[in-house]
Amino acid sequence: MSTAIVVGGGIGGTAAALALVGRGWSVQVLERAPEVEEVGSGISLWSNALRALDALGLGDAVRAHGMAEVSAGIRDERGRWLSRTDVATLRERFGAPVMIHRARLLDILRAALPEGVVRTGISVREATVDGAVVHAAGTSSADLVVGADGIRSVVRRAVCGEVAPRYAGYTAWRAVVDIHEPLTEFGETWGRGARFGMAPLADGRVYCFAVYNAPENTTGSLAEVRARFESWHDPIPGLLAAADPNALLHNDIYDLPALPSFTSGRIALLGDAAHAMTPNLGQGGCQALEDAVVLAGLAGEPDGLARYDRERRTRTQMITRRSARIGTVAQLSARPLVALRNTALRLTPTSAQLRSMAEILDWTC
Ligand SMILES: Cc1cc2nc3c(=O)[nH]c(=O)nc-3n(C[C@H](O)[C@H](O)[C@H](O)COP(=O)(O)OP(=O)(O)OC[C@H]3O[C@@H](n4cnc5c(N)ncnc54)[C@H](O)[C@@H]3O)c2cc1C
Repeated sequence: MSTAIVVGGGIGGTAAALALVGRGWSVQVLERAPEVEEVGSGISLWSNALRALDALGLGDAVRAHGMAEVSAGIRDERGRWLSRTDVATLRERFGAPVMIHRARLLDILRAALPEGVVRTGISVREATVDGAVVHAAGTSSADLVVGADGIRSVVRRAVCGEVAPRYAGYTAWRAVVDIHEPLTEFGETWGRGARFGMAPLADGRVYCFAVYNAPENTTGSLAEVRARFESWHDPIPGLLAAADPNALLHNDIYDLPALPSFTSGRIALLGDAAHAMTPNLGQGGCQALEDAVVLAGLAGEPDGLARYDRERRTRTQMITRRSARIGTVAQLSARPLVALRNTALRLTPTSAQLRSMAEILDWTC
């Protein structure tokens, strides 16, 4: 039986383990956290990710957490629509996206793995192209080593040396908020150098994010975030007022420069370790799920890792570039450019929006 060590038990690593187990591999996941847990916020899963989850037999379990019928789009700070998403056509054309709590997604993935596959509290220090993995509990080796250890991957060093993540110039705050009055309109609000987003979770709570331009490593507090968005349209100030300061997540936003390869010897990188991207398209986790399914399908084949590299690198690097461009436009701060951007958004027909999404969302495994 072929053996695999998956380094990292996040969304990508757990999905890869599941996909490999499904193809008869003997798999160990080494996760450095003492408990496998996901941080408390939402994640959008688009139809491409749902197809990858279908391949893992979990699509319907995740779809059960799908959004109710809502209206969405992009507004300006005063709440005027710049662009409306045709949600009905989106559903019909691509299938409904799912907004799910990350912890719930990881629970669903993990529950499908056989007992004992995930070993927690084991930090990997190094991996080598011959399949050896040096970790806190000794050295293990396998036919395949999957580097699913996130944006600051140690496994990546064996594939392409030290690669520093690039700061995108903006920082994000995320919260899941209990609300008393149900909301029906969601999406993003774009201001000058700042953005706010909201999406409904299946349990009635709202996942929100506030993003603004800032130097790297800027600290801040919920009070400052509230102050920045206090004059924005409803329900933004109310959502921030209801956010729990102890359950708030704060991340500077990074992506990775294009790697020359995702594989070397017995190692394959996936997810953020291979192609961390800005979250502007909501695709980082979706791409990790695609990677997992494609890797498991090819890894046992002659030349399989080279094919995985070719197939996944082209696609994920295209999406990373596109996501970075959207971030640049969304975070514009000079008044004339913001006015120009808003006009362009108002004039863009829905059909053009749907066309640009097709290349990403039409993926099948
Ligand atoms: C603000 C924000 C919003 C986002 N929104 C979306 C969205 O809506 N939709 C979407 O698809 N994506 C979204 N993303 C991207 C998504 O979160 C990531 O792409 C996804 O979590 C990547 O999963 P991963 O498993 O590759 O890496 P990670 O989630 O980083 O998991 C890596 C795992 O490896 C472990 N690990 C790290 N180093 C070691 C080591 N040395 N030894 C052992 N274990 C190790 C870590 O503990 C962790 O469990 C967003 C990201 C951000 C920052």
